[in-house]
Amino acid sequence: MPPKRVLNPQSIFDQASVEEAFEELKIRPQHLHSLYSNLILRSATDYDEIVDFPKKAKDYLSQNYVLSTSKVIHKKVSKSGDTIKLVVRLQDGLEVESVIMFYEPLSLKPAPENDEASEGETKPKLVADGTSRRATLCISSQVGCQMACTFCATGTMGIQGNLTAAEIVEQLMHARKEADIRNVVFMGMGEPLNNYKNVTQAVKLMIDSRYFGLKPSRVTVSTVGVIPYILKLATDLPKVSLALSLHAPNQEIREQLVPSARSYRLDKLMGAIDTYQEKTGNKVFIEYVLLSGVNDLPEHIDELGELLRDRDVTVNLIPWNPIYSPEIEFSAPGAESTEYFKNTLKNKYNIRCTVRQEKGQDVSGACGQLVLETQAQRGANADCGTADIEDLMSPGAREVSPAPKCNIQ
Ligand code: SAH
Repeated sequence: MPPKRVLNPQSIFDQASVEEAFEELKIRPQHLHSLYSNLILRSATDYDEIVDFPKKAKDYLSQNYVLSTSKVIHKKVSKSGDTIKLVVRLQDGLEVESVIMFYEPLSLKPAPENDEASEGETKPKLVADGTSRRATLCISSQVGCQMACTFCATGTMGIQGNLTAAEIVEQLMHARKEADIRNVVFMGMGEPLNNYKNVTQAVKLMIDSRYFGLKPSRVTVSTVGVIPYILKLATDLPKVSLALSLHAPNQEIREQLVPSARSYRLDKLMGAIDTYQEKTGNKVFIEYVLLSGVNDLPEHIDELGELLRDRDVTVNLIPWNPIYSPEIEFSAPGAESTEYFKNTLKNKYNIRCTVRQEKGQDVSGACGQLVLETQAQRGANADCGTADIEDLMSPGAREVSPAPKCNIQ
Protein backbone atom coordinates (compact mmCIF):
# COMPACT_ATOMS: atom_id res chain seq x y z
CA MET A 1 0.00 0.00 0.00
CA PRO A 2 1.33 3.47 -0.81
CA PRO A 3 1.97 5.77 2.16
CA LYS A 4 -1.12 7.75 3.08
CA ARG A 5 -0.93 11.44 2.26
CA VAL A 6 -2.50 14.03 4.53
CA LEU A 7 -3.85 16.81 2.36
CA ASN A 8 -5.40 20.09 3.33
CA PRO A 9 -6.91 22.18 1.72
CA GLN A 10 -9.01 20.26 -0.72
CA SER A 11 -9.09 20.94 -4.42
CA ILE A 12 -12.25 22.20 -6.06
CA PHE A 13 -11.69 19.40 -8.59
CA ASP A 14 -12.44 16.88 -5.90
CA GLN A 15 -15.85 16.71 -7.48
CA ALA A 16 -17.23 13.90 -5.31
CA SER A 17 -16.56 15.84 -2.13
CA VAL A 18 -18.01 19.09 -3.51
CA GLU A 19 -21.09 17.19 -4.66
CA GLU A 20 -21.54 15.72 -1.20
CA ALA A 21 -21.12 19.12 0.43
CA PHE A 22 -23.70 20.67 -1.91
CA GLU A 23 -26.17 17.94 -1.01
CA GLU A 24 -25.67 18.54 2.69
CA LEU A 25 -26.02 22.28 2.27
CA LYS A 26 -29.10 21.73 0.09
CA ILE A 27 -27.54 23.58 -2.83
CA ARG A 28 -29.21 22.55 -6.07
CA PRO A 29 -27.25 20.27 -8.45
CA GLN A 30 -27.54 22.82 -11.26
CA HIS A 31 -25.08 24.97 -9.31
CA LEU A 32 -22.60 22.12 -9.25
CA HIS A 33 -22.87 22.03 -13.01
CA SER A 34 -22.44 25.76 -13.39
CA LEU A 35 -19.44 25.65 -11.03
CA TYR A 36 -17.54 23.12 -13.16
CA SER A 37 -18.56 24.49 -16.51
CA ASN A 38 -17.32 27.93 -15.45
CA LEU A 39 -14.07 26.60 -14.06
CA ILE A 40 -13.36 24.30 -16.97
CA LEU A 41 -14.95 25.85 -20.03
CA ARG A 42 -14.67 29.51 -19.12
CA SER A 43 -11.49 29.24 -17.04
CA ALA A 44 -13.15 31.18 -14.23
CA THR A 45 -10.76 32.02 -11.41
CA ASP A 46 -13.26 33.47 -8.96
CA TYR A 47 -16.65 32.22 -7.77
CA ASP A 48 -17.98 35.75 -8.29
CA GLU A 49 -17.63 35.20 -12.02
CA ILE A 50 -20.32 32.53 -11.91
CA VAL A 51 -23.73 33.95 -12.70
CA ASP A 52 -26.45 33.32 -10.09
CA PHE A 53 -24.14 31.27 -7.93
CA PRO A 54 -25.57 31.13 -4.39
CA LYS A 55 -23.69 33.03 -1.69
CA LYS A 56 -23.93 29.96 0.53
CA ALA A 57 -21.98 27.96 -2.07
CA LYS A 58 -19.41 30.71 -2.59
CA ASP A 59 -18.76 31.06 1.13
CA TYR A 60 -18.52 27.36 1.72
CA LEU A 61 -16.19 26.76 -1.22
CA SER A 62 -13.96 29.72 -0.36
CA GLN A 63 -13.49 28.41 3.16
CA ASN A 64 -12.95 24.78 2.32
CA TYR A 65 -11.51 24.46 -1.19
CA VAL A 66 -8.87 26.01 -3.39
CA LEU A 67 -8.88 26.30 -7.17
CA SER A 68 -5.58 24.44 -7.44
CA THR A 69 -3.63 22.47 -4.89
CA SER A 70 -0.66 21.97 -7.21
CA LYS A 71 1.56 24.22 -9.26
CA VAL A 72 3.92 23.93 -12.17
CA ILE A 73 7.39 24.53 -10.80
CA HIS A 74 9.42 23.61 -13.82
CA LYS A 75 8.61 23.81 -17.50
CA LYS A 76 10.80 22.88 -20.40
CA VAL A 77 10.05 23.21 -24.09
CA SER A 78 12.05 20.89 -26.33
CA LYS A 79 14.26 22.57 -28.94
CA SER A 80 12.04 21.31 -31.71
CA GLY A 81 9.03 22.61 -29.83
CA ASP A 82 7.09 19.36 -30.10
CA THR A 83 7.18 18.53 -26.42
CA ILE A 84 6.65 20.46 -23.22
CA LYS A 85 7.50 18.82 -19.94
CA LEU A 86 5.92 20.11 -16.77
CA VAL A 87 7.02 19.26 -13.25
CA VAL A 88 4.08 19.72 -10.95
CA ARG A 89 4.57 20.22 -7.22
CA LEU A 90 1.76 18.92 -5.05
CA GLN A 91 0.71 20.63 -1.85
CA ASP A 92 2.70 18.22 0.34
CA GLY A 93 5.87 18.89 -1.63
CA LEU A 94 5.82 15.69 -3.71
CA GLU A 95 6.38 16.12 -7.43
CA VAL A 96 5.05 14.48 -10.57
CA GLU A 97 5.54 15.11 -14.23
CA SER A 98 3.23 15.63 -17.17
CA VAL A 99 4.31 15.83 -20.78
CA ILE A 100 2.50 17.64 -23.57
CA MET A 101 3.17 16.32 -27.07
CA PHE A 102 2.05 18.28 -30.09
CA TYR A 103 0.60 16.90 -33.29
CA GLU A 104 1.79 19.69 -35.52
CA PRO A 105 5.17 21.38 -35.37
CA LEU A 106 5.15 24.24 -32.93
CA SER A 107 5.83 27.69 -34.19
CA LEU A 108 8.18 29.22 -31.70
CA LYS A 109 9.27 32.74 -31.11
CA PRO A 110 12.02 34.06 -28.85
CA ALA A 111 10.88 34.56 -25.27
CA PRO A 112 10.29 38.22 -24.42
CA GLU A 113 13.01 39.82 -22.30
CA ASN A 114 10.65 40.45 -19.42
CA ASP A 115 9.29 36.86 -19.40
CA GLU A 116 10.16 35.93 -15.83
CA ALA A 117 10.74 32.31 -14.90
CA SER A 118 8.84 31.10 -11.86
CA GLU A 119 10.50 29.44 -8.88
CA GLY A 120 12.78 26.63 -9.97
CA GLU A 121 11.99 27.16 -13.63
CA THR A 122 14.64 27.68 -16.25
CA LYS A 123 13.80 30.78 -18.19
CA PRO A 124 12.70 29.57 -21.64
CA LYS A 125 14.63 30.88 -24.63
CA LEU A 126 11.75 30.03 -26.91
CA VAL A 127 8.04 30.20 -26.27
CA ALA A 128 4.99 29.10 -28.22
CA ASP A 129 3.71 31.71 -30.63
CA GLY A 130 0.34 31.74 -28.93
CA THR A 131 -1.60 29.72 -31.46
CA SER A 132 -3.52 26.94 -29.79
CA ARG A 133 -2.25 23.60 -31.05
CA ARG A 134 -3.80 20.18 -30.56
CA ALA A 135 -1.84 17.97 -28.27
CA THR A 136 -1.68 14.78 -26.24
CA LEU A 137 -1.08 14.94 -22.52
CA CYS A 138 0.88 12.22 -20.82
CA ILE A 139 -0.27 12.26 -17.22
CA SER A 140 0.87 10.78 -13.89
CA SER A 141 -1.36 8.79 -11.57
CA GLN A 142 0.99 8.16 -8.65
CA VAL A 143 4.14 9.62 -7.14
CA GLY A 144 6.64 6.90 -7.90
CA CYS A 145 5.45 3.37 -8.57
CA GLN A 146 5.47 0.09 -6.69
CA MET A 147 5.69 -2.13 -9.75
CA ALA A 148 9.48 -1.74 -9.96
CA CYS A 149 9.86 -2.57 -13.66
CA THR A 150 13.59 -3.04 -13.94
CA PHE A 151 14.20 -0.69 -16.90
CA CYS A 152 12.00 2.16 -15.69
CA ALA A 153 13.12 5.30 -13.85
CA THR A 154 9.92 5.56 -11.84
CA GLY A 155 10.40 1.93 -10.83
CA THR A 156 13.60 2.92 -9.01
CA MET A 157 11.74 5.48 -6.88
CA GLY A 158 9.40 3.13 -5.07
CA ILE A 159 5.91 4.33 -4.30
CA GLN A 160 5.49 7.60 -2.45
CA GLY A 161 1.77 8.09 -2.76
CA ASN A 162 -1.39 7.98 -4.81
CA LEU A 163 -2.58 11.11 -6.55
CA THR A 164 -6.08 12.23 -5.70
CA ALA A 165 -8.59 12.47 -8.53
CA ALA A 166 -8.29 16.24 -8.24
CA GLU A 167 -4.50 16.17 -8.57
CA ILE A 168 -4.88 14.12 -11.73
CA VAL A 169 -7.41 16.58 -13.14
CA GLU A 170 -5.24 19.53 -12.12
CA GLN A 171 -2.49 18.20 -14.41
CA LEU A 172 -4.95 18.59 -17.26
CA MET A 173 -5.87 22.07 -16.07
CA HIS A 174 -2.19 23.09 -16.06
CA ALA A 175 -1.60 21.58 -19.50
CA ARG A 176 -4.60 23.33 -21.02
CA LYS A 177 -2.85 26.63 -20.38
CA GLU A 178 -0.19 25.48 -22.84
CA ALA A 179 -2.16 23.60 -25.47
CA ASP A 180 -5.46 22.34 -26.72
CA ILE A 181 -5.38 18.87 -25.17
CA ARG A 182 -7.26 16.30 -27.27
CA ASN A 183 -5.81 13.06 -25.89
CA VAL A 184 -4.82 11.99 -22.42
CA VAL A 185 -2.61 8.96 -21.83
CA PHE A 186 -1.89 7.61 -18.36
CA MET A 187 1.72 6.92 -19.25
CA GLY A 188 3.38 9.22 -16.77
CA MET A 189 4.53 8.19 -13.35
CA GLY A 190 2.75 5.37 -11.61
CA GLU A 191 0.53 2.41 -12.30
CA PRO A 192 -2.95 3.83 -12.88
CA LEU A 193 -4.74 0.60 -12.03
CA ASN A 194 -3.09 0.61 -8.57
CA ASN A 195 -4.91 3.90 -7.99
CA TYR A 196 -8.11 2.75 -9.62
CA LYS A 197 -10.73 4.75 -7.75
CA ASN A 198 -9.03 8.12 -8.19
CA VAL A 199 -8.00 7.45 -11.78
CA THR A 200 -11.50 6.41 -12.86
CA GLN A 201 -13.03 9.35 -11.03
CA ALA A 202 -10.67 11.73 -12.84
CA VAL A 203 -11.34 10.04 -16.18
CA LYS A 204 -15.09 10.42 -15.69
CA LEU A 205 -14.67 14.17 -15.36
CA MET A 206 -12.34 14.27 -18.38
CA ILE A 207 -14.84 12.51 -20.63
CA ASP A 208 -17.91 14.27 -19.27
CA SER A 209 -19.31 16.02 -22.34
CA ARG A 210 -20.43 18.96 -20.17
CA TYR A 211 -16.90 19.75 -19.05
CA PHE A 212 -13.58 18.68 -20.59
CA GLY A 213 -15.49 16.61 -23.12
CA LEU A 214 -12.62 14.41 -24.22
CA LYS A 215 -13.65 11.59 -26.49
CA PRO A 216 -13.50 8.44 -24.29
CA SER A 217 -11.41 6.53 -26.83
CA ARG A 218 -8.90 9.37 -26.69
CA VAL A 219 -8.21 8.71 -23.04
CA THR A 220 -5.83 5.76 -22.67
CA VAL A 221 -5.12 3.94 -19.45
CA SER A 222 -1.77 2.18 -19.64
CA THR A 223 -1.17 -0.73 -17.31
CA VAL A 224 1.58 -3.19 -16.65
CA GLY A 225 -1.20 -5.74 -16.20
CA VAL A 226 -3.21 -5.60 -12.98
CA ILE A 227 -5.70 -8.27 -13.96
CA PRO A 228 -8.66 -7.60 -11.62
CA TYR A 229 -8.73 -3.94 -12.55
CA ILE A 230 -8.41 -4.57 -16.28
CA LEU A 231 -11.63 -6.54 -15.95
CA LYS A 232 -13.27 -3.88 -13.79
CA LEU A 233 -12.31 -1.18 -16.29
CA ALA A 234 -14.17 -3.09 -18.99
CA THR A 235 -17.35 -2.66 -16.96
CA ASP A 236 -16.79 0.81 -15.50
CA LEU A 237 -15.29 2.66 -18.47
CA PRO A 238 -15.75 0.45 -21.53
CA LYS A 239 -15.21 3.22 -24.07
CA VAL A 240 -11.89 4.35 -22.67
CA SER A 241 -8.81 2.90 -24.41
CA LEU A 242 -6.46 0.39 -22.82
CA ALA A 243 -2.73 -0.04 -23.36
CA LEU A 244 -0.93 -3.05 -21.94
CA SER A 245 2.78 -2.83 -21.17
CA LEU A 246 3.71 -6.34 -22.22
CA HIS A 247 7.46 -5.98 -22.89
CA ALA A 248 8.12 -9.70 -23.23
CA PRO A 249 6.90 -12.61 -25.34
CA ASN A 250 7.07 -15.18 -22.53
CA GLN A 251 6.68 -15.56 -18.79
CA GLU A 252 10.38 -15.98 -18.07
CA ILE A 253 11.56 -12.75 -19.70
CA ARG A 254 8.55 -10.87 -18.43
CA GLU A 255 9.38 -11.76 -14.85
CA GLN A 256 12.87 -10.30 -15.30
CA LEU A 257 11.52 -7.01 -16.58
CA VAL A 258 8.20 -6.73 -14.78
CA PRO A 259 8.32 -8.20 -11.25
CA SER A 260 4.52 -8.01 -10.91
CA ALA A 261 4.34 -10.69 -13.64
CA ARG A 262 4.99 -13.24 -10.89
CA SER A 263 1.54 -12.50 -9.50
CA TYR A 264 -0.17 -11.75 -12.79
CA ARG A 265 1.11 -14.50 -15.04
CA LEU A 266 1.23 -14.07 -18.79
CA ASP A 267 -1.37 -16.73 -19.63
CA LYS A 268 -3.86 -15.26 -17.15
CA LEU A 269 -3.07 -11.75 -18.35
CA MET A 270 -3.76 -12.60 -21.99
CA GLY A 271 -6.98 -14.30 -20.84
CA ALA A 272 -7.96 -11.05 -19.11
CA ILE A 273 -7.20 -9.11 -22.29
CA ASP A 274 -9.45 -11.48 -24.24
CA THR A 275 -12.27 -10.98 -21.74
CA TYR A 276 -11.70 -7.21 -21.82
CA GLN A 277 -11.98 -7.24 -25.61
CA GLU A 278 -15.07 -9.43 -25.62
CA LYS A 279 -16.77 -7.04 -23.22
CA THR A 280 -15.70 -3.75 -24.80
CA GLY A 281 -14.97 -4.53 -28.43
CA ASN A 282 -11.90 -2.30 -28.06
CA LYS A 283 -8.62 -2.85 -29.79
CA VAL A 284 -5.83 -3.01 -27.19
CA PHE A 285 -2.50 -1.23 -27.57
CA ILE A 286 0.48 -3.35 -26.65
CA GLU A 287 3.55 -1.48 -25.44
CA TYR A 288 6.83 -3.30 -25.88
CA VAL A 289 10.02 -1.63 -24.68
CA LEU A 290 12.92 -2.91 -26.79
CA LEU A 291 15.99 -3.80 -24.74
CA SER A 292 18.97 -4.86 -26.77
CA GLY A 293 19.72 -8.58 -26.50
CA VAL A 294 17.05 -9.07 -23.83
CA ASN A 295 13.71 -9.11 -25.63
CA ASP A 296 14.48 -8.01 -29.20
CA LEU A 297 16.01 -11.15 -30.75
CA PRO A 298 14.47 -12.95 -33.74
CA GLU A 299 13.09 -15.75 -31.52
CA HIS A 300 11.35 -13.15 -29.39
CA ILE A 301 9.67 -11.66 -32.45
CA ASP A 302 8.34 -15.09 -33.41
CA GLU A 303 7.11 -15.81 -29.91
CA LEU A 304 5.42 -12.42 -29.70
CA GLY A 305 3.94 -12.90 -33.17
CA GLU A 306 2.43 -16.24 -32.12
CA LEU A 307 1.12 -14.75 -28.90
CA LEU A 308 -0.63 -11.84 -30.57
CA ARG A 309 -1.46 -12.98 -34.10
CA ASP A 310 -5.15 -13.69 -33.54
CA ARG A 311 -5.79 -10.75 -31.28
CA ASP A 312 -7.05 -7.28 -32.18
CA VAL A 313 -4.02 -5.31 -31.09
CA THR A 314 -1.60 -2.65 -32.23
CA VAL A 315 1.93 -3.09 -31.00
CA ASN A 316 3.83 0.04 -30.11
CA LEU A 317 7.55 -0.69 -29.99
CA ILE A 318 9.45 1.64 -27.68
CA PRO A 319 13.22 1.68 -28.10
CA TRP A 320 14.42 1.87 -24.51
CA ASN A 321 15.31 5.36 -23.31
CA PRO A 322 18.43 5.14 -21.21
CA ILE A 323 17.86 6.36 -17.69
CA TYR A 324 20.21 7.53 -14.96
CA SER A 325 20.63 4.75 -12.49
CA PRO A 326 23.77 2.83 -11.61
CA GLU A 327 21.85 -0.43 -11.14
CA ILE A 328 20.35 -0.41 -14.61
CA GLU A 329 22.43 -2.18 -17.20
CA PHE A 330 20.21 -2.32 -20.24
CA SER A 331 21.03 -0.85 -23.58
CA ALA A 332 18.86 0.60 -26.29
CA PRO A 333 18.39 -1.33 -29.54
CA GLY A 334 19.84 -0.07 -32.82
CA ALA A 335 17.58 1.44 -35.45
CA GLU A 336 18.09 -1.59 -37.70
CA SER A 337 16.98 -4.19 -35.19
CA THR A 338 13.97 -2.07 -34.27
CA GLU A 339 13.03 -1.85 -37.91
CA TYR A 340 13.52 -5.59 -38.35
CA PHE A 341 11.35 -6.30 -35.31
CA LYS A 342 8.58 -4.10 -36.66
CA ASN A 343 8.72 -5.44 -40.20
CA THR A 344 8.73 -9.07 -39.08
CA LEU A 345 5.72 -8.60 -36.84
CA LYS A 346 3.94 -6.88 -39.64
CA ASN A 347 4.90 -9.02 -42.62
CA LYS A 348 5.14 -12.44 -41.05
CA TYR A 349 2.36 -12.15 -38.48
CA ASN A 350 0.19 -9.42 -39.96
CA ILE A 351 0.28 -7.46 -36.71
CA ARG A 352 -0.15 -3.73 -36.81
CA CYS A 353 2.95 -2.14 -35.38
CA THR A 354 4.31 1.34 -34.79
CA VAL A 355 7.64 2.52 -33.44
CA ARG A 356 7.82 5.28 -30.92
CA GLN A 357 10.37 7.76 -32.19
CA GLU A 358 12.77 9.74 -30.10
CA LYS A 359 11.75 13.34 -29.85
CA GLY A 360 12.18 16.13 -27.37
CA GLN A 361 15.20 14.36 -25.95
CA ASP A 362 16.58 17.60 -24.69
CA VAL A 363 13.75 17.98 -22.20
CA SER A 364 13.78 14.48 -20.77
CA GLY A 365 10.45 12.84 -20.32
CA ALA A 366 11.10 9.20 -19.57
CA CYS A 367 8.93 7.69 -16.97
CA GLY A 368 9.80 9.53 -13.79
CA GLN A 369 13.02 10.79 -15.21
CA LEU A 370 12.15 14.42 -15.40
CA VAL A 371 11.33 14.57 -11.74
CA LEU A 372 14.46 12.69 -10.75
CA GLU A 373 16.55 14.87 -12.97
CA THR A 374 15.10 18.16 -11.88
CA GLN A 375 15.38 17.23 -8.26
CA ALA A 376 19.06 16.52 -8.80
CA GLN A 377 19.94 19.40 -11.06
CA ARG A 378 17.15 21.71 -11.99
CA GLY A 379 17.39 23.02 -15.46
CA ALA A 380 19.94 20.56 -16.80
CA ASN A 381 19.33 18.42 -19.83
CA ALA A 382 18.90 14.71 -19.67
CA ASP A 383 19.13 11.97 -22.16
CA CYS A 384 15.80 10.52 -23.01
CA GLY A 385 12.96 10.75 -25.40
CA THR A 386 9.26 10.82 -25.86
CA ALA A 387 6.64 8.91 -27.78
CA ASP A 388 4.35 8.97 -30.74
CA ILE A 389 1.32 8.42 -28.63
CA GLU A 390 -0.97 10.45 -30.79
CA ASP A 391 -0.14 8.17 -33.67
CA LEU A 392 -1.07 5.31 -31.48
CA MET A 393 -4.36 6.99 -30.67
CA SER A 394 -5.43 8.01 -34.13
CA PRO A 395 -7.23 5.52 -36.36
CA GLY A 396 -4.84 6.22 -39.21
CA ALA A 397 -1.73 5.51 -37.21
CA ARG A 398 1.37 5.77 -39.30
CA GLU A 399 3.63 2.79 -39.72
CA VAL A 400 6.74 4.38 -38.41
CA SER A 401 5.86 7.61 -36.88
CA PRO A 402 8.15 10.56 -37.05
CA ALA A 403 5.97 11.95 -34.32
CA PRO A 404 6.35 12.93 -30.73
CA LYS A 405 7.31 10.59 -27.97
CA CYS A 406 6.27 10.48 -24.45
CA ASN A 407 9.03 8.96 -22.65
CA ILE A 408 7.20 9.49 -19.88
CA GLN A 409 5.06 7.00 -20.38
N1 SAH B 1 2.53 1.76 -15.21
C1 SAH B 1 1.97 1.97 -16.50
C2 SAH B 1 2.18 3.36 -17.07
C3 SAH B 1 3.49 4.02 -16.85
S1 SAH B 1 4.81 3.84 -17.91
C4 SAH B 1 2.50 0.95 -17.46
O1 SAH B 1 3.41 0.24 -17.12
O2 SAH B 1 1.97 0.85 -18.54
C5 SAH B 1 4.26 3.95 -19.57
C6 SAH B 1 5.15 3.16 -20.51
O3 SAH B 1 6.50 3.65 -20.57
C7 SAH B 1 5.23 1.74 -20.10
O4 SAH B 1 5.05 0.93 -21.21
C8 SAH B 1 6.64 1.68 -19.57
O5 SAH B 1 7.11 0.39 -19.55
C9 SAH B 1 7.40 2.57 -20.51
N2 SAH B 1 8.71 2.99 -20.03
C10 SAH B 1 9.09 3.21 -18.78
N3 SAH B 1 10.39 3.56 -18.72
C11 SAH B 1 10.86 3.55 -19.98
C12 SAH B 1 12.13 3.81 -20.58
N4 SAH B 1 13.16 4.17 -19.87
N5 SAH B 1 12.21 3.70 -21.92
C13 SAH B 1 11.14 3.37 -22.66
N6 SAH B 1 9.93 3.11 -22.16
C14 SAH B 1 9.77 3.20 -20.83
